[in-house]
Amino acid sequence: MAFMQDYKAHVNEREALGVPPLPLSAEQTAEVIELIKSDCTDELLELLTNRVSPGVDDAAYVKAAFLNDIANESVKVDAISPQRAVEMLGMMLGGYNVKPMIDALKSSNKDVVGAATKALSHTLLVYDAFNDVEELHKAGNKAATEVMTSWANAEWFTSKPKLSDKITVTVFKVDGETNTDDLSPASEAFTRSDIPVHANSMLTAKMDDPIGIITELKKKGNTVAYVGDVVGTGSSRKSGINSVQWHMGESIKGVPNKKTGGVILGSTIAPIFFATAEDSGALPLELDVSEMEMGDVIELYPYKGEAHKNGKCIATFKLNPNTITDEVRAGGRIPLIIGRGLTSKARSVLGMPQSDIFLTAEQPADNGKGYTLAQKMVGRASGLDGVRPGMYVEPEMSTVGSQDTTGPMTRDEIKELAALGFNADLVMQSFCHTAAYPKPSDITMHHTLPDFISNRSGVALRPGDGVIHSWLNRMVLPDTVGTGADSHTRFPIGISFPGGSGIVAFAAVTGSMPLTMPESVLVRFSGEMQPGITLRDLVNAIPHKAIKEGLLTVEKKGKKNIFAGRILEIEGLPTLKAEQAFELSDASAERSAAACTVLLDNEPVIEYLKSNVTLLESMIEAGYEDKRTLQRRIDKMKDWLANPSLMKPDADAEYAAVLDIDLNEIKEPILACPNDPDDVATLSEILASDRPHKIDEVFVGSCMTNIGHYRALGEVLRGEGPVPTRLWVCPPTKMDEKQLTEDGYYAIFGAAGARTEIPGCSLCMGNQARVADNAIVFSTSTRNFDNRLGKGAQVYLGSAELAAVCAILGRLPTAEEYIEKTKKIVGKEGEIYKYLNFNLIKDYKLA
Ligand code: SF4
Repeated sequence: MAFMQDYKAHVNEREALGVPPLPLSAEQTAEVIELIKSDCTDELLELLTNRVSPGVDDAAYVKAAFLNDIANESVKVDAISPQRAVEMLGMMLGGYNVKPMIDALKSSNKDVVGAATKALSHTLLVYDAFNDVEELHKAGNKAATEVMTSWANAEWFTSKPKLSDKITVTVFKVDGETNTDDLSPASEAFTRSDIPVHANSMLTAKMDDPIGIITELKKKGNTVAYVGDVVGTGSSRKSGINSVQWHMGESIKGVPNKKTGGVILGSTIAPIFFATAEDSGALPLELDVSEMEMGDVIELYPYKGEAHKNGKCIATFKLNPNTITDEVRAGGRIPLIIGRGLTSKARSVLGMPQSDIFLTAEQPADNGKGYTLAQKMVGRASGLDGVRPGMYVEPEMSTVGSQDTTGPMTRDEIKELAALGFNADLVMQSFCHTAAYPKPSDITMHHTLPDFISNRSGVALRPGDGVIHSWLNRMVLPDTVGTGADSHTRFPIGISFPGGSGIVAFAAVTGSMPLTMPESVLVRFSGEMQPGITLRDLVNAIPHKAIKEGLLTVEKKGKKNIFAGRILEIEGLPTLKAEQAFELSDASAERSAAACTVLLDNEPVIEYLKSNVTLLESMIEAGYEDKRTLQRRIDKMKDWLANPSLMKPDADAEYAAVLDIDLNEIKEPILACPNDPDDVATLSEILASDRPHKIDEVFVGSCMTNIGHYRALGEVLRGEGPVPTRLWVCPPTKMDEKQLTEDGYYAIFGAAGARTEIPGCSLCMGNQARVADNAIVFSTSTRNFDNRLGKGAQVYLGSAELAAVCAILGRLPTAEEYIEKTKKIVGKEGEIYKYLNFNLIKDYKLA
């Protein structure tokens, strides 16, 4: 029993961390099976039944094969009857268990047939195996007909309890704003796929002993609800929901170390977080939580839309979307969509009309007005001319991105979806968040995730290649729709709706995603760019103007944000290069926008795609996989280039708000101040305030940058010698790094004493190297949430040009000093802001 001794040691180790053991590996599962065969105990049976991950996990393969042998009676085990083996197969959700269950429908053992009928009737993840059941049904197999009828009648759904009329919860209140980094700290990103361990870090930087408080609250015997003023802003972290559900949700039979359910109440719940909660089977409700305090017992009446405390109604709410009760009943929006599809297919096989068992999404009336650019793009992906705000659609996902800190979770979700292939046209995996300073678990992931992705026809990058978006953007087709499990998946051409890893896995596997179309906010630039003003200043000009117009507030309590959950549509800068357009679309994440479009002329998009065709061809030549997917995308790009045309918004399209920004009025840099991307101010406003003026560290890097920024940095630093600040330089891709080295800029960075990092996210996410505790930092990165770049760091966000001046001075310059110091750029703009056109580089080869 050496296995049991080792396993018990592992259990004890994990117990000391307050978490259950890891799910069994394929090898451990095989060992458990051998022990069961020779001398079965309840403990071994429990391990096999409940401690093996379901779906297409390697361990699930071993388990399903063993249970199949018992079910077809080629192996006999006293403790597991053939019928019980099929019942156990039925708990494995889909994937490797499906074929054995379908085979069992043909068994001569009627108990086995009965168990298989019941198990399959409640299995949703059958994909193409549906056809096998259909064939059996048509061949007269009664059990198959029973399964088909059960699917058609949605017994997988109706057998589950409806959402109760009344839910009593105990309040776990987190005042103010909780961002997803509070729920799932970047510094603990390497533990994210180990849900129980990662959940131990939830809120630890925000409050004392959060887990202890939750444990105490549970003693009241009710579900503990997560309650906050603003909940879930920031990155699209499924891990944030995983942690909340781990502490406040319910166990899932046969699925180790993962939970479902849970109640989340917020005066505002960030849209991506809300959708991720829906996908995962939680009940998110937006309502006024100001009268809810830690430990309060609240009665929620979901159908009446009321929350009561001490018998008195303290808040009202509307179920949104109207289908959310079905979602909760089905165990989440994802199982509901998959199950509805299965029921619909089964009804069509049986010649039955469409089911009325499910609630249908409320669709808005068509007012006959024109469509915005986003509404047209989503329309085309949904087989329509356009979609109206509030309309529920399932657009085709042309491009799907996954990065490395969410990648392992996405992989686990793909396994749970029991998928062995992708239906999305292009799925790409990057390794930008962990490349520089990988932990042992990252190294394992670097070795295993690429094959997992490319074996399913996805494209796997390599550690050191660079930031996800700088690559993914180069694979996007104009006017198409995509997604990614990184909140900055915001294409400069086309449109992307980032989501949590669950929905991203769903999009990759099925090639579409659920979407309730948000409203749009139009930002319209006019006038001329003024000297010294950069695109980064325009990024910050958007919240600056919105604050002035009363459409955005910095204060969290009762926060106003016109962009939250809406689509930011940007016009007035049609000649921007795609790389520049991405600076604007990338930052729509900081506005909490659901997505972003940038209206561009044909020329920059043609230029970008021509370059990208060469890059993708060089990837194939350099051995990147999956070659067929890359080639398919090259062909589609060439098709577009053969007849280039871009969608345009209709003149009478409607927007929730229109923000006009006159470039003539932006005369000095605009920065986001410590520590809130919405708290923007001009250089003069900052210098006139008591905000810090001294700068300790400067970071030039992140997906907000492109090669032009590094040339500008280099030109300003040229001849200045060592800088008094700690200067970090990290280009977004290895192609930028190579070009900058060849152009001599790395020599300048070296002379300045800069610390150069390998291409990737570097400091931006804070999970690798970090700035010194309490440092005052000037950064070109995306966001400056508390503790993101370093513990206690106070971070300004602004342009690379201003970063260069801050690095030299060790403080914020005056507007005049800034103009003076950046004069070195003037006259050289054509050379500095020149982007990587790979097609113009003779015999381009990817190093
Ligand atoms: S550079 Fe920063 S914002 Fe961009 S993908 Fe990496 S961590 Fe995210």
